[in-house]
Amino acid sequence: MFTRILIANRGEITCRIMRTCRHLGVQTVAVYSDADADALHVSMADQAVRLGPAPVADSYLRGDLIVQAALDTGAEAIHPGYGFLSENPEFVDAVETAGLVFIGPSAAAIRAMGLKDAAKKLMQAAGVPVVPGYLGDDQDADVLAQEAAKIGFPVLIKAVAGGGGKGMRLVENPRDFAEALDSARAEARTAFGNDAVLIEKYIQSPRHIEVQVFGDGAQAVHLFERDCSLQRRHQKVIEEAPAPGMTAAMRTAMGDAAVTAAKAIGYAGAGTIEFIVDASDGLRPDRFWFMEMNTRLQVEHPVTEAITGVDLVEWQMRVASGEPLPARQSDLRITGHAFETRLYAEDVPAGFLPATGRLDLLAFPAGLRADSGVRTGDTISPWYDPMIAKLIVHRPDRASALQALRDGLRATRVAGTVTNLGFLAALADHPGFAAGQVDTGLIGRDIASLTAAVPCPPRDIAFTAIVAAGLAELNAALTGFTLWAALARRIEFRLDGADRMAILRTDGPDRITVALDSQIVDARRGPDGWRLDRQAAPAFVRHGNRITVFGAATMVVEITDPLDRAVAAGPVADGILAPMPGLVRSIAVSVGDPVTSGDRMVVLEAMKMEHVLRAPRDGVIAAVHCVAGGQVTAKAVLIALEPQSDSAHSDTKRHAKGARERD
Ligand code: ADP
Ligand code: ADP
Ligand code: MG
Repeated sequence: MFTRILIANRGEITCRIMRTCRHLGVQTVAVYSDADADALHVSMADQAVRLGPAPVADSYLRGDLIVQAALDTGAEAIHPGYGFLSENPEFVDAVETAGLVFIGPSAAAIRAMGLKDAAKKLMQAAGVPVVPGYLGDDQDADVLAQEAAKIGFPVLIKAVAGGGGKGMRLVENPRDFAEALDSARAEARTAFGNDAVLIEKYIQSPRHIEVQVFGDGAQAVHLFERDCSLQRRHQKVIEEAPAPGMTAAMRTAMGDAAVTAAKAIGYAGAGTIEFIVDASDGLRPDRFWFMEMNTRLQVEHPVTEAITGVDLVEWQMRVASGEPLPARQSDLRITGHAFETRLYAEDVPAGFLPATGRLDLLAFPAGLRADSGVRTGDTISPWYDPMIAKLIVHRPDRASALQALRDGLRATRVAGTVTNLGFLAALADHPGFAAGQVDTGLIGRDIASLTAAVPCPPRDIAFTAIVAAGLAELNAALTGFTLWAALARRIEFRLDGADRMAILRTDGPDRITVALDSQIVDARRGPDGWRLDRQAAPAFVRHGNRITVFGAATMVVEITDPLDRAVAAGPVADGILAPMPGLVRSIAVSVGDPVTSGDRMVVLEAMKMEHVLRAPRDGVIAAVHCVAGGQVTAKAVLIALEPQSDSAHSDTKRHAKGARERD
């Protein structure tokens, strides 16, 4: 085993790898960017090396600096985590040239699986079933259209270099083919610098079932399947193992195909073979096809660890340090059922926009595994993936695991940023999901109900006013109140974008009547704290004027000062604001240009998405306050329009809200 390794990553995966290193007695070296100088992964490491400024191109993608850091600190090996350099064969070559060990597959294996078309050809030759389609070099638009017709619509256009659901277009009708091809190519060119595509038959009501494989270069085993069918726009949201409805025959067929695939490229380390499954008629051994291989540790690997009891990172380190495969196929068993869900800082009502913020509180309940790279007080920055944590539950059967997931989500506390917790909780409550009827279209079909806002009960709102008045703590003196006189106090706050008000009235010691718009809530303080209409008060956290209450749902209110409000309500109608922090990709207008409502103005890239900001109204560009390639903060004014008459303002504001869109 190694004495010391460097982990070329950040966030939860780095912390997770370090936990295994500790257990194995291996010392760790972290690397970090300026944005991460105080990050958890840095504080967990035995040593840490600064790479450079926040942008990934200057830090976590600087393979040269990372190799040098490993040499300087005496690390013998580099674990790449996932993302960043994990599937970059040139990095593997650089690591090995420096005399270090790459904890992962060979550069050749990564190259073999790097492009989807080449990988599919290779798998076809090895006898692994692949999705029917066109994998040719001829990329002429007419040829591609003819091939699509031969395959039969609907078809899927995929970037051969694709990943993370980018460069992929579903085409249902021959009429739409040319346009879809253009847009898939454009996206692939920007994201991967390679606009070659392949065409696949689109499998109806598909399930995404992948198999975890592990090799030592000579032998390979599989560690069963994971079902990742719960996806939003081709991105996984909840994963589970084993797959619901899996039969012994199907598992054997998929496991054998996955091991064949791994052996065909002499695979060493942890990898995943992703299959698409036609589940329109149950799970049948002749209805699954190879989609792609991910030559790295997968985000969702913990569900496999839960059901097999294997520490996959430990296996990676053993095999990379020269040990043979730690187990034979016959040693591996499935115990119980596991779910993983990805908790993100994102604004669900705004269309799942990535969010940022300082975490006033981050707390997870007992009874689940929470893999996280942040703590209370840390900041989710605009620079990297906004994942806060992965929550993993493991129970003897699927129903109890799902219940544990629901309970775990309900008891997870995040304050200081918006999150997708409510969406995940709604998904965990979805009856079709509970029945195991999962397919990749489930979330899309029910997106409206899954993202519907949970109304805040008056009880929770009333309690916020009590917190705002400084009366929530058990021993708080009733400041500002005269005990026996019915004195009133007025609290103003903002909730869901609306200004609200509560009147607190003392009705004797330890008793407050809270009047909201049309409701009255009765609050009494007993030995266990406050009760509101007889129910125990929810937990809360206060940071300055921001109060987060963990009641029926996580509710955030901002205590307002009438003076602040007057300033905030000032006209912003002439400015086009950045909806979130990001990188300005391109600017389509210059000063003096006339624009029509809906015209493309700025393309902003934030996290892995592009957002087109359009003109909120007709007008003339007065100023451009950003530059292409520049970083901007949330709410920064990017473009200003010439002012228009006052009466038009309110109309413009209404438009500005709808003017953002995700291309
Ligand atoms: P898939 O490629 O099948 O979508 P994953 O969901 O594991 O598999 O990952 C999608 C891509 O985004 C991968 O390249 C992965 O390494 C990267 N990725 C996913 N989640 C994160 C994250 N939280 N931080 C950094 N990179 C991530
Ligand atoms: P990426 O590299 O972006 O992860 P994949 O090829 O793994 O791309 O596909 C991502 C997702 O797209 C799959 O998990 C599945 O939901 C959907 N998908 C891919 N291929 C097909 C297909 N042929 N038919 C139906 N859905 C598909
Ligand atoms: Mg994939």
